[in-house]
Parts: sequence; C-alpha cells; structure tokens
Amino acid sequence: MSSTLRFQVVGEAFKKHPIDVPTPKERPSEFFAKYVFTRQKMMQYLPADVFRTMVDVMDNGTTLDLKTADAVAAGMKRWAMELGATHITHWFQPLTEGTAEKHDGFVEHDGKGGMVEEFTGKQLVQQEPDASSFPSGGIRSTFEARGYSAWDPASPVFVMGDTLMIPTVFIAFTGEALDYKAPLKKALFAVNKAATEVAHYFYPDVKKVICNLGWEQEYFLVDEGLYAARPDLLMTGRTLMGHDSAKNQQMDDHYFGSIPERVAAFMKDLEIQALELGIPCKTRHNEVAPNQFELAPIFEETNLAVDHNMLLMSLMKKVARKHGFRVLLHEKPFAGVNGSGKHNNWSLSTDTGVLLHAPGKTPIDNLRFITFIVETLMAVWKHNGLLKASIVSATNAHRLGANEAPPAIISSFLGKQLTDVLEHLEQTSDNEISLKGKQELHLGIPQIPELLIDNTDRNRTSPFAFTGNRFEFRAVGSEANCASAMIALNSAVAEALIDFKERVDARIAEGMETLKAVMTTVREDIKTCKPIHFEGNGYSEEWKQEAARRGLNVEASCPLVIDRYLDDASVKMFAKVGVFNRPELEARNEIKWDTYTKKIQIEARIFGDLCMNHIIPVATRYQSQLIDNVHKLKEIFDTTTAEQLSHDNIALIKQISEHTSYITTHVDQLIEARRVANRIDSEREKAISYHDTVAPLLEDIRYHVDKLELIVDDELWPLPKYREILFIR
Ligand code: ADP
Ligand code: MG
Repeated sequence: MSSTLRFQVVGEAFKKHPIDVPTPKERPSEFFAKYVFTRQKMMQYLPADVFRTMVDVMDNGTTLDLKTADAVAAGMKRWAMELGATHITHWFQPLTEGTAEKHDGFVEHDGKGGMVEEFTGKQLVQQEPDASSFPSGGIRSTFEARGYSAWDPASPVFVMGDTLMIPTVFIAFTGEALDYKAPLKKALFAVNKAATEVAHYFYPDVKKVICNLGWEQEYFLVDEGLYAARPDLLMTGRTLMGHDSAKNQQMDDHYFGSIPERVAAFMKDLEIQALELGIPCKTRHNEVAPNQFELAPIFEETNLAVDHNMLLMSLMKKVARKHGFRVLLHEKPFAGVNGSGKHNNWSLSTDTGVLLHAPGKTPIDNLRFITFIVETLMAVWKHNGLLKASIVSATNAHRLGANEAPPAIISSFLGKQLTDVLEHLEQTSDNEISLKGKQELHLGIPQIPELLIDNTDRNRTSPFAFTGNRFEFRAVGSEANCASAMIALNSAVAEALIDFKERVDARIAEGMETLKAVMTTVREDIKTCKPIHFEGNGYSEEWKQEAARRGLNVEASCPLVIDRYLDDASVKMFAKVGVFNRPELEARNEIKWDTYTKKIQIEARIFGDLCMNHIIPVATRYQSQLIDNVHKLKEIFDTTTAEQLSHDNIALIKQISEHTSYITTHVDQLIEARRVANRIDSEREKAISYHDTVAPLLEDIRYHVDKLELIVDDELWPLPKYREILFIR
C-alpha cells in the first residue's frame, strides 16, 4: 500500500459514524434466551412424558433412548422452524481455536418425488462430521477410528440465523476425546463426585456440587480499514512491528473512561444478540489499553459457561464486522500496551445453595469454607506446572511474565483476612479445639466476618487470586477456550478432595470424631501447600528466585511447559479422576506443539515478507532522497559549507544503512532458522526449535524496523501506525 492509500484509510476510519442500534421494545428479561430451547420452551413444545424424561437426562445425566430423542427432535424442529430455521448443525469445539459446525438442511425426499422437512432423533443425537481435517494428534490414525459428534443435552440447543445449533462433544469411535468438551464434562463429573462426598462431612443432604464459572472477556477493537492495511494483523491477529504511540496508556485515561460512540453502538448490538442467545451479559467497560474493552456475564454452571464464551467470541466477530470493526482476541495485539486475558472466576456450590468457597455464619460453615479453600490450594500447589500448561500458548506467551499480566509462575493470593485465619490454624494446636458436638464446636477460628465476601483486597499480579467467594484464575488467555484451564483445575481439585477424604476417613476409622478429623487433616494441608501462597509482587525478580526455591514451576518456554501434561503426577491424577488416559494426553500434546510451531511459522513468514517487501524498499527510497539532497547541496555550495549542511542527513543515511543491513541479514537468518526447524521430525523438538531460534529473531529484527519507522518520512511509511490504529474516534 502506498502512503497516500494509508492516509486515505486512516481518514476514512476517523470519519466513520456509529451505526444506529434500535433499543428493543421488550425488556432484557423478556427477550433473554429468545433463541434458546429452554426448559420453558421444552414444556411448551414437548409431550409431558417426553419433557419429564428430558429433565431427568439434563439433571441426572441419564441416557436418552431413541424414541424420546425422536420426540424431542420433533418438538425442536417445530420450534426452530417457527423462528425461520432451515438447517441444523452439530456445533463442537475441536482442538483448534474456536468452534466447528457442519450444516445439514432439514429437507429430505418424501418418497413421492417431492421434499419434506425432517429432523430425526438420530440426527439430533449423533452426527459424523468429516473428522479427518480436525487435529487429533494421531489418535484417529493410531486407533483407526472415525470421529463423531454427540449431543450434550446439558447445554440447550439454540437458533442462530437460519440454523438450529446443537452443542455436542466430539469423540473418536474408540472413545478418545477429540475436543475440549468431552474431557471437561468428565472433569466436572469428577469434581462433583469428590466435592459432594467431602461436603457430606458438613451437610449430609447435599446431592450434587456444581462448578461455577464467570469469565471476563477482554478484547481490542480496530477499524476494519486499518486492519485490512496491516497484513500482520490480518494473518496473525497481532502487529509484528510498529513503534509505540507517543500516547498510549500512560495517562490511565481509558480505563473506566467513557466508551466511544461507535464502540458503544457495537456493545449494545452485541449485548442484545448475546442476551437473545441466552448469554447473561452483565458488565461492559473500557480496559486499561486504548481500544481495549471487557465484557462479563453473570457466572453459570461451567459446561454452559464454556459454550457461552465460545458462542460469544464468534458472535463478537460477526457483530464487529457489521459495525466496521475487527475484534482482536489475541492476547497481545500491540507491544507496549496491556494484553488481553480472560479471568476465569471459579467456585463450587451445592444443590442446596451453599457456596463452598464462601465463608458462612456458623463454625461448621467456616470449617467447610477453610476445607474447600485449602484443598483447592493443595491442588494448585501440587499441579502448578500443569495449570500453567493448561493456559500457555504461542499467543498467551507474550502476556505471561511480561510485567502487566500474571507472571509465568502460578501462585495464589489470599488477602490479609484469609492469610491470618490460615496462619492462626497452622499455629494453634489440636488441644485448643473443643469438639463437644456440633453446636458447641469451637474451632479456634476467629469469627470470619461476612465482610470477607466483599473482599476488595486486590492483588492484580496474582495468577490465582482468592476474591472473597471464589478464585480468579487470571492467567487464562483471551483467545483460549476456558475448557482447557477448567479441565486441569477441576481434575486437580477432584484429586485433592479424594485424597483429603481418604485421610479424613482413615482418622475416623481410628476413632477420631469426624469434624476433628477434618480439622486435623486441613491443618496438615495448610502446612503442605504453603509454598503456593504468595501475597507479594508477582512481577518482581526476587519472586522468580523465591518461587524456584519453593519448588514451584518457573519455566517460561511454552513448548517445555507443555511437557507438564506428561509428568507422572499429571498422568496419575488424570487417570484417577477418569478424565484422560496417557495416549490421549500424548496426542493432545502433539497438537499443542504443532499449533505452537505453526503460529510462529506463520508470524515468521509474514514478518519476513513485510520486512523485505514493505519496509526495506521504503527505507531505501527515503535514503536515496537523502543522498540526492546531499549531492544537490554540493552542486550549489562550496565543499566545506556543503559538508556542514549535509552533516545530519549523512548521519541519517548511515543509520538507515545500519538498520536495513541488520534487517536484511537477520531476515536471512530467520529463514534459515525456520528451514532447520522444519527438518525436525519430533513435534516437541520442532516447537522448541521455533521457540529458541525463530521467535527471538522476530523481536530482535522488530527493534530495527521500529527504529526505521521513527526515521523514515511519514509520507512514505506503508503501514498504519500505532497512533492511528489505537484510537477509535
Ligand atoms: P471483577 O471486579 O473481578 O471484574 P465482577 O463482579 O465483574 O468482578 O465479576 C467477575 C465475574 O465473576 C462475573 O462473571 C461474576 O458473575 C463472577 N462471579 C461472581 N461470584 C462468583 C462465584 N462465587 N463463582 C464464580 N464466579 C463468580
Ligand atoms: Mg475480575
């Protein structure tokens, strides 16, 4: 693109007006879930006995028979066709980013030469997409199995455009999971079972423990014209070059500032559509960086929350286009300003309405609270490396440890009150606890004020912070499927709770009173998991050293962090809770390494092209202009004067030469490094090679490109600059 084009695109972006988004006539409570086949609609569209069977399937996970499925499909079809649906799709979450779908029309031959709308129970329950093009890490070839998608009745079907969308899991015929949802459901099942059993020590009538997830989605918006003029943004989702804007986030004026009108219109549109699809959007605001925003719904059951996040991300992309924007979900689209994360607010609660991670009013409630907090910490301590592995990616790597977002070490912040309580419990001895029946139970725990629920004691540097009635896993990337983190966390917590119960039961078997056995075991664990507890500044250099001394995982290289999935402790844990077997873990790691490699590979290719075809020619052209000027000065002045006058230009000419020759030789090195890496067979070794040799060169060369951006005439510069992209008018 020539510079005149650049100015044209920038000019147009700045002239754009917000699209008018009419306010719906109904209130949000009325249009909420308009396009979702909710229980209410099931009641309306399904025969009474079929509805009852479905409730049992949804609530208790009983199996669906084909006759019921047929009846459900018939009701669904009637409802969906009233909303204008003509197609159905099984919607699933393969191990790539995002979601996948394959659309089939409702139409079938009617046997009389015509067509009829048809949708059977079999079509609802199971489909066989062409699985060969989705990553499987070799599972399908190893087991010679095909993949199929199976309906997940726990997540309601919905209509989007002309299509009835059916949330599904995606598995191989031999049973191995090929997606995120199948293992997520297993992990949720495991944590439900383990937590219910532990909850029984305190509340015998608990039947089920629900895992809650409230994600906060951060994102950037950029004008579509400017986006299209940046091949790097277009192909990789981030800018691979670009000098800091003179003004970025240093004034802190964007955070909670007023939302630009064009963005407000986008947000309004997005929220309406999200609410209609049953996503309970609640919060929206500006984020720290310019053009950065956040959307958060009210928390939901995790399986549904994950689907809703995936749905929201695709909806965002669609709505953004309508408003002349592109949404950037990449964790680090711009150097020098904050990246985007997706805080995962996580907690467990019972079917009887007890939030297990919240303190309560009675001593029993508080012992329950401490138990679930400490066992969560045990899980995070034992599997801190694995938890990090669950959130690392080539894109999130730019954010972790980059002095703005969670550091690349998993630790937990608890706040002063909870820290005091744990310390107190650790230091008091058993004798101080009198256990004369439940009512007179005295735990020696200073009464935990209910105030703790509103705990605003914040430490933004902690990757896993306790925030009053939940933990906030902040290291999750903005682009990621939350399921990855939720699988690892819930599996690890399930294991910790199982292990806890075994030790408590052993004490009870030896004659110890139940609550005393609980207390004694909790006390033991407070000591054990202490290394994970850190209240200080997670960005500091001292913490890195201290964390290593504590035995926490401090590895920062993404391909090496992925290894943690195959640690003995991880493999045993996943097997014990029934979530993954070793071949599945191995297969998934192959995919992770391969994805890492491909991301860096694409970046390196685009970057090389941009350097050689955009930057070097422009820098050289500007340099020639300067050289011309020096020659011309010589023509009209005597030698001494000419030398004096051309002094600055000669210095610039030299600087340009230094930068361009650095860029040229190092782009050659970059190509060579890729060539060497590409020859490696092992996915792991290849990813390591890309991490160690290719990725650093990108940063290295970028420095020189960004310097040239400051030197070369603005008129000539081919790419929209940060200051132009980052401020929506
Ligand atoms: P913040 O101040 O961290 O932005 P918000 O009030 O915006 O906090 O909440 C962030 C998310 O946490 C929301 O989705 C909210 O519904 C969710 N949340 C609140 N309480 C819990 C809980 N106990 N368990 C899980 N998620 C929760
Ligand atoms: Mg938060």
